[in-house]
Amino acid sequence: MAEKRLPDVDLLSLAGKVGTPFNIYDGRAIAENAKALYDAFSWVEGGFVDFFAVKALPNINVLRLLASLGFGADCSSLPELILARQAGISPDKIVFTSNDTPDDEFKAAYDMGAVLNLDDISHIDAVLRSCGSLPQTICFRYNPGPERTGNAIIGNPVEAKYGLTKTQLVEAYRRAAALGVRTFGLHTMVASNELDASYIVETARMVFSLVDIVARQTGVRISFVDLGGGVGIPYRESDEAVSFRYLGDEIHRLYDSMIVAKGYGPLKVTFEMGRAITGPFGYLVSTVRHVCRKYKDYVGLDACMADLMRPALYGAYHHITVLGKEDLPCDHVYDVTGSLCENNDKFAIDRRLPEIEEGDVLVIHDTGAHGHSMGFNYNAKLRHAEYLIGLDGKVCRIRRDETFDDYVRTMLYEPEEVL
Ligand SMILES: *Cc1c(COP(=O)(O)O)cnc(C)c1O
Repeated sequence: MAEKRLPDVDLLSLAGKVGTPFNIYDGRAIAENAKALYDAFSWVEGGFVDFFAVKALPNINVLRLLASLGFGADCSSLPELILARQAGISPDKIVFTSNDTPDDEFKAAYDMGAVLNLDDISHIDAVLRSCGSLPQTICFRYNPGPERTGNAIIGNPVEAKYGLTKTQLVEAYRRAAALGVRTFGLHTMVASNELDASYIVETARMVFSLVDIVARQTGVRISFVDLGGGVGIPYRESDEAVSFRYLGDEIHRLYDSMIVAKGYGPLKVTFEMGRAITGPFGYLVSTVRHVCRKYKDYVGLDACMADLMRPALYGAYHHITVLGKEDLPCDHVYDVTGSLCENNDKFAIDRRLPEIEEGDVLVIHDTGAHGHSMGFNYNAKLRHAEYLIGLDGKVCRIRRDETFDDYVRTMLYEPEEVL
């Protein structure tokens, strides 16, 4: 059971002071969680690293905090690469796990010294074309296809656009070695929001066995594996969090028997977790504008799907706490909505909550990953601010509210004739 906690700051006062909606991230809880992860993988030879998936929470202040805690960055676009560098993350701790990549982004990542993680065998030629040569270090993304079933969220690997087939993978290492690459990585990601830790352990088993296959078929010695992201978080109170300790111990055992015992050590083990790093430590705080009684009872918030699209996009559950009413019985049933002119703009459907009044402040939990970053401007909704509780307990604004001027910044009031 994952008990839903709130950060140790007075959210009601903060809401009164700065206005809603906003996202707030608990830096202290993120640091504690990071320590648990790094402790669980402290056995990794050459030093464990999680390349934090920047897309999950692309705010430079959070990236700086994560950098100070030992994280690298997993980027999939040039702006993400720039942000990671601006946050002070060194290039050897940046992996460029992109797909359908433009040539100029390969070049920028190459020039920066980030680790290129190629998504397709044809991208060897794309890198040669755009960069002139292959970098010293290269990584390939593996897609196991029919050999492995994906989890429910990521779907069947055969249907996934990502990665090289096993045959291509062997061929890719051969070619890269012939082209002068010296250091090789192997990446895979076959899960999303997976709460079953054994599934992640099986991914490690699959990857470790490939290290052996690649070595035997090509003579290439893989020096790091990247087990991707996709570790889930307990969005529901009834969910059980994945234990980093369990993951670390189980993968360590496989490492000893499949890597060390076969003479393939040292092999650096890395991840690209995003959600499991910051997800549970973000909160979307929003005020109730209206309570409407129609065929159903609706709670209308000042936040909408443009602030957090997971519930509308994939029916995702996000727990909701009504501040100051934590101890009241949940004896009312509401649809909790936003103000978009889209009927799927709902944070919750038929949710049992205490009786809600206008002006109540609601906390939507677990918005620390794939929350604000998935936001958009439909209906000319302006993006909300972000706050960070620092390690010293102080609350800082780390993104201001968007303004109308921001919204129209790229619009040309005077048309420019182009053809
Ligand atoms: C999205 C993504 C991640 C992070 O996924 P989480 O679910 O946030 O852990 C890591 N790697 C790649 C390649 C991704 O696309």
